[in-house]
Amino acid sequence: MGGQVSSVEGVHVVVVGGGFGGIAAAQQLKSEGLSFTLIDLRDAFHHNVAALRASVQPGFAQRTFIPYAETFGDSFVQGRVERVDTERQTVILQGGRVSSC
Ligand SMILES: Cc1cc2nc3c(=O)[nH]c(=O)nc-3n(C[C@H](O)[C@H](O)[C@H](O)COP(=O)(O)OP(=O)(O)OC[C@H]3O[C@@H](n4cnc5c(N)ncnc54)[C@H](O)[C@@H]3O)c2cc1C
Repeated sequence: MGGQVSSVEGVHVVVVGGGFGGIAAAQQLKSEGLSFTLIDLRDAFHHNVAALRASVQPGFAQRTFIPYAETFGDSFVQGRVERVDTERQTVILQGGRVSSC
């Protein structure tokens, strides 16, 4: 990624979905030392492109799963996002949990 990131004090970014797009955004935020939460309904990123290799190399399948918590620590929350309340700047997860932006 070549874009510049400007830091705004008091801003907390919530990234919904840890797919290729989400993890790229979260990784950039992490490397810039910015406050963020990555939310995904699964506990691990599945590198589906690498899954093609797993289909021909025995034992490789497990390596196509990369646990979010190992990469993003406490900045990762597992849950299903149900809606985003833009007025209150909160993300509501299934079960009523809330993550603030
Ligand atoms: C087998 C396979 C091989 C592929 N090979 C290639 C390739 O060689 N080259 C290429 O360019 N592309 C390839 N693709 C396509 C590529 O994987 C997609 O374009 C890419 O994954 C899209 O990224 P994304 O971040 O937009 O979405 P996704 O990767 O689909 O990520 C979305 C994430 O959001 C999470 N999520 C969804 N809903 C919620 C919710 N309500 N709350 C919380 N989390 C949620 C999901 O769990 C998921 O982790 C392949 C796809 C497949 C299936």
